[in-house]
Amino acid sequence: MAERLENTRKFQADVEQCMKCGFCGYFCPIYREEHEEKGLARGKDQLIRSALQGEQDLTKGFYEAIDNCLLCRTCVQYCPAKTRIDHAVTAARADYVAEKNLPPAKRIVFRYVLPHRRLFGLALRLASWFQGLLPRGQGRFRHLPQFLSALGAGRAIPDIAPRFLRTILPERSPAAGAPKYRIGFFSGCATEYVFPEIGEMIVDVLRNLDCEVVFDRRQGCCGAPVYLSGDFHTARKMAARNVEAFEDYDYVVTGCATCGSGLSEYPTYLADTPEKKERFERFAAKVKDFNKFVIDVLAADLDRLTLKPRFHGKTVTWHDPCHLARYQEVRTQPRKILQALEGLRFVEMSDADRCCGLGGSFSITHYDVSRKIADHKSDAIAACGADAVVTACPGCMIQLRDALARRNMDVEVLHIGELFTVRPQSKQT
Ligand code: SF4
Ligand code: SF4
Repeated sequence: MAERLENTRKFQADVEQCMKCGFCGYFCPIYREEHEEKGLARGKDQLIRSALQGEQDLTKGFYEAIDNCLLCRTCVQYCPAKTRIDHAVTAARADYVAEKNLPPAKRIVFRYVLPHRRLFGLALRLASWFQGLLPRGQGRFRHLPQFLSALGAGRAIPDIAPRFLRTILPERSPAAGAPKYRIGFFSGCATEYVFPEIGEMIVDVLRNLDCEVVFDRRQGCCGAPVYLSGDFHTARKMAARNVEAFEDYDYVVTGCATCGSGLSEYPTYLADTPEKKERFERFAAKVKDFNKFVIDVLAADLDRLTLKPRFHGKTVTWHDPCHLARYQEVRTQPRKILQALEGLRFVEMSDADRCCGLGGSFSITHYDVSRKIADHKSDAIAACGADAVVTACPGCMIQLRDALARRNMDVEVLHIGELFTVRPQSKQT
């Protein structure tokens, strides 16, 4: 029988790191809205510490407290003791789920829908049909479960794409020139089902930068929403499938910040044997965000990047997704790309790396506070005078579109892969 709190114990040193200074209170997006100790890293840390000491049972209240976290790592960035509350919270969620199970809606979606790509696509179509029946802008649906009520309230939710990426993109896209690398393109669910055109554009850029790109049909969900909710058991199956599919490529490239960090963290959370840890680490080392791959790995000649005509004369700003800036240390690379695009004006917004408030299912289960957090982002975007906000996370895009639509702000939300094409090498000489 498994030891009680066996996952959390693995991160006990992280939990004991906190020196209770409260400095995280200046930065935690949730605390800044609610001013409640339980929202703060220090409050969560204390609760988890009490559980480890046997003074706290894994009650519903315990779950609600550890569920009230965006896992944005803002506190980790500024904590003088470098307390890894993200490790502690994720592991504590796993121990709660192992003992008490997931809430029913998440259980059904994670275990029976998300792992099956066809079924997931069908479920999304049904959800989009259902969403079309909801009157917009008429307040929350009080009699629906919280998961569904968050779809009301005039929330701007993107339509499900008429065709999914795997029915559009060929399995293999040859390199435009002599191939430098053979890469596996990891689309992630949002790109596959909601923004397939972004997937096509990213693959086109990579191809023109002389990479053979394979959209391996064996890929599934990265598993991040699943293991960050505490279902390590289901996520391990998802990880096994993705590692099996991708471990023979030179690199695994994704345009989704959450997928990039999700795949990279398999060794941290999902390796339950030394062999798996070694295999997951080898796999994680190949995972690269699109921006990082273009700038750091390919060292692309930025003069070849050509702004698409419709963006000429536009002013854009950059939103740093938490899963890119704090999880993968990707900050300078997208800015280099944006600054290199002739005809585009790049301006920084204030606090560009401030969390947008999405936090995966946090924005569904805690929509009110999620919305308030997003409003600060809208303020910063408005203040910098940009025509468009550019990012590299489809999840952030959905959140930002909702936030800007609520303010009736005429600001586009774009993925960086949408902005440019690559001039063929031959035309340069
Ligand atoms: S998590 Fe870090 S910043 Fe927050 S109280 Fe603990 S030591 Fe201080
Ligand atoms: S990870 Fe983010 S939401 Fe969670 S405690 Fe830290 S700052 Fe707050």
